[in-house]
Amino acid sequence: MASIHLKNLGHRYAAYDAGSDNPYALNPLDQVWEDGGAYALLGPSGCGKTTLLNIISGLLRPSEGRVLFDGEDVTDLSTERRNIAQVFQFPVVYDTLTVAENLAFPLRNRGMESTTIEARVAETLTMLGLEGRANERARSLNADDKQKISLGRGLVRTDVRAILFDEPLTVIDPHLKWQLRTELKKIHERFSHTMIYVTHDQTEALTFADKVVVMNAGSILQVGTPEQLFDRPRHTFVGTFIGSPGMNVLRCTFDGEAAVVDGVKLPLDEATIKAAHARGLATSGVSLEVGVRPESLLVVGAGVNTDDDPHYVRVDVLGVEDLGRHSLVRLRLGNQLLCALHPEGAAIPEAAALRFDPARTLLYANSLLVEANG
Ligand code: ATP
Repeated sequence: MASIHLKNLGHRYAAYDAGSDNPYALNPLDQVWEDGGAYALLGPSGCGKTTLLNIISGLLRPSEGRVLFDGEDVTDLSTERRNIAQVFQFPVVYDTLTVAENLAFPLRNRGMESTTIEARVAETLTMLGLEGRANERARSLNADDKQKISLGRGLVRTDVRAILFDEPLTVIDPHLKWQLRTELKKIHERFSHTMIYVTHDQTEALTFADKVVVMNAGSILQVGTPEQLFDRPRHTFVGTFIGSPGMNVLRCTFDGEAAVVDGVKLPLDEATIKAAHARGLATSGVSLEVGVRPESLLVVGAGVNTDDDPHYVRVDVLGVEDLGRHSLVRLRLGNQLLCALHPEGAAIPEAAALRFDPARTLLYANSLLVEANG
């Protein structure tokens, strides 16, 4: 396995849309992927995920910067010479070969001994739940099983420096998806391959990866554990992209001690207040927003006396949607809309107050989290 360092790397396609403000499909970045890490590369369509993956695999040469594997410069090496396994969105199998022959193919290609090949193929068949089907022709398999073989062809080699997955479960039945994701996680725990898994599906990313790399518009915005991305999104895009529904983002000002949304004060924690002062945000004129997850807000009835408690603010209830385990309460604070999650079955008051927890009320300047080390 290898650590992967993308050194001052950026990419412009020769045929990039000339009308666009930014010629880069991938904005210049410097990024290290640790040896043995399970990463998910998450972002909306067109944000540059496949471009980044193809640069790592060697299918695409970056227009600037270098790719290093364990410190060795591999920028000019082909995919084969980089010793990488790849699994694509659609099955890559040889229809005329059997299941076992398909799995054995990458090993035979590298001149491995037949006893080792047999053992690895048998192990991979078990991993994928395809025991007993070794001798079936690939052409007779359904799409799910063919994609399992594609995954198997990526996983059968133990000597690869990294395994790259490009939306590998898109064509798979939803129930099997969950099963295969769990299996991939187990395989990672056992073999500690460096794995990079591209997806635009947050559930897939958060359940597969130790670290999720969130991208938007050609840039990496945050690399973090699922908890870090959920609890402290470092960019408002990360907060709104992750979560269902995503984080509420409200325009505000900073009056030196609180965030002020349309004249209403929202309490912030000490560390945020200090960081905001250090950056002069009370007077700087930069665009400020407050971010708060719907899960962190508590809706209470107007009957509850909240007047002397600065954590509570008055809001209008606009509507309620039943989401099963929770209700989604749509609210208005000043002139801005937000939502809160409320336990199922609990009555939703018509006139309400909303409790903000300062530790979970985040401040953003120019879309970036205001924090002590920001
Ligand atoms: P998706 O999830 O839809 O596959 P993605 O996040 O993988 O999207 P990329 O395919 O890497 O994104 O594309 C990033 C940007 O580069 C997009 O604006 C895309 O239109 C552009 N692009 C991709 N391939 C080429 C190409 N061969 N020539 C010119 N522009 C390209």
